Amino acid sequence: MKEEIANRLQQISEQNLIDIEQAKEQGRSVIGFYCLYSPTEMAVAVNAIPVPLCGTRNDPIPAAEETLPRNLCPLIKSSYGYGVSDTCPYFRASDIIIGDTTCDGKKKMFELMARFKPTHVIELPQSQNNPMAMEFWRAEIEHFKTVIEETSGQQIDKAKLGAAIKLMNRERHVRKALMDVNKAKPAPLRGAELIEILFRVGFLADKEYGISLMEELTAAAREGAFRQGDPPKNRARRILLTGVPVGLGSDKIVNIVEQLGSDIVAFENCSGYKQAFTVDEGKDPIDALAEQYLATPCSVMSPNEGRFNLLREMVEEFSIDGVIDLTWQGCHTYNVEAYLVDKMLQETFGITSLHLETDYSESDTEQLKVRIEAYLEML
Ligand code: SF4
Ligand code: SF4
Repeated sequence: MKEEIANRLQQISEQNLIDIEQAKEQGRSVIGFYCLYSPTEMAVAVNAIPVPLCGTRNDPIPAAEETLPRNLCPLIKSSYGYGVSDTCPYFRASDIIIGDTTCDGKKKMFELMARFKPTHVIELPQSQNNPMAMEFWRAEIEHFKTVIEETSGQQIDKAKLGAAIKLMNRERHVRKALMDVNKAKPAPLRGAELIEILFRVGFLADKEYGISLMEELTAAAREGAFRQGDPPKNRARRILLTGVPVGLGSDKIVNIVEQLGSDIVAFENCSGYKQAFTVDEGKDPIDALAEQYLATPCSVMSPNEGRFNLLREMVEEFSIDGVIDLTWQGCHTYNVEAYLVDKMLQETFGITSLHLETDYSESDTEQLKVRIEAYLEML
């Protein structure tokens, strides 16, 4: 990333922490979210600040391992470690933590987290096609509304929720526009740059500022500002990353691919394109939120046809040469689903995916390099 853009993003992040502290002093609530299934619109409807809390760094994991099993998913350990060691300012600022019963490890971790932080866990069905599941899920979203009302001391009516949906749709729309820049060949943004922008903007207390910043960076990327002076890369492969979420600190696969001269041009995971949806603004807001959020195509759903549809669309639209399917150690749902991802890609596009299972440490970096290099050469 060009130095001035990187410095600016760093300054924006630092200023954002100050802004959040000031907003709290003025009475705004901060709501910590851990998963894409929880509608952030509910927080926005009461002018609270939603912050994404999934841990993406290795540093807090030893603190988590004093309580949690070592062979648990690193994302869960990192998230818990930040909380228990009180080393994440966003966790500290949160008035309440919102979890979901997604995978077994995460839902059991929230039980432990609830011992030192107010926590509400939304019960998530495991199927998207069952009418009883939708009825149950809608009731959970209604209940979630009352939790946010109690936390913030403000009522949420249809008008407030409708306005929050509109604002979040605009944010998702510009997020998607930024990601879509990389449909161009060569990709104007490196995968590491895209992840850094999306990650940092996700914490911003001022949503309107986040939207205008992404619009500005999208325009700059289209004009080639990020890659000015880059040497031409004749053998660069266009790679799509699918599977578990990645963020700053858990992006080692992205960095390895790019060190080897190829580009991660698109992210299908919930750090990327899984967030590129639109909530229906014409429906009852609770119905619309319930329908759209339950449709999130994550491997915790069984079956999870939406992920395959999304992958098919992205492989075509981003002119993808190869797919890396990333699984964090201990993540059974993505691990099992890797078989179906590879089968679909082979049958539809004749592409074999590279399935990698790793954690947040650097201990297997050399091994990963060898496997990724062999895969890129094969494409
Ligand atoms: S991968 Fe699935 S369970 Fe994990 S945060 Fe994303 S949507 Fe939630
Ligand atoms: S990556 Fe897998 S195991 Fe880890 S929190 Fe997400 S769904 Fe659970």
